[in-house]
Amino acid sequence: MTQHLDPRSPWVISTHDLGKRPGTMRQVSVTLPAPVDIGVDMIGVPKDAEIELDLRFEAVMEGVLVSGTARTPLAGECSRCLDPVSSEIEVDLQELFFYSDEDASEEDSLLDGELLDLEPTFRDAVVLALPLSPMCRDDCEGLCVECGVKLAEAGVDHRHEKIDARWASLQGLITDKDNDQEK
Ligand SMILES: [Zn+2]
Ligand SMILES: [Zn+2]
Repeated sequence: MTQHLDPRSPWVISTHDLGKRPGTMRQVSVTLPAPVDIGVDMIGVPKDAEIELDLRFEAVMEGVLVSGTARTPLAGECSRCLDPVSSEIEVDLQELFFYSDEDASEEDSLLDGELLDLEPTFRDAVVLALPLSPMCRDDCEGLCVECGVKLAEAGVDHRHEKIDARWASLQGLITDKDNDQEK
């Protein structure tokens, strides 16, 4: 399946200068605009983020091997207290882009002529690296289960007077007993 790439897309990169000569390589440091919609419910790559890439393109027999790292900011909310969270991660990228689908399997990436699209590789690497439960701080205490106040702000002695159901019935018994004695 040959998919035609848009050479104007910032994540579509030309391998023209490698000339399909195995052993030829090129080192590239580039900053690209974040692709849209990378993330899960709680956290993801913010819109308009800039991604810093340090990559090596190497021509091999079957295609072009791309390896390196990508640094991206992340933004989301704390899974405990719902405060905004922002951080940064660095992910490793490695992908062999095949010249021809004869050498490649279904899941492999293919070159479109001299062009390759790094976006899916970046997207997969980031999604795998996202924290499942992002936190504003390692020791975030979260919210009070009773009233929803942020425990870090409410202070250590924040608690609710709450009578356990068993206590309530016991109190009922005592009152009845007192009443009996009065009679
Ligand atoms: Zn928090
Ligand atoms: Zn409370």
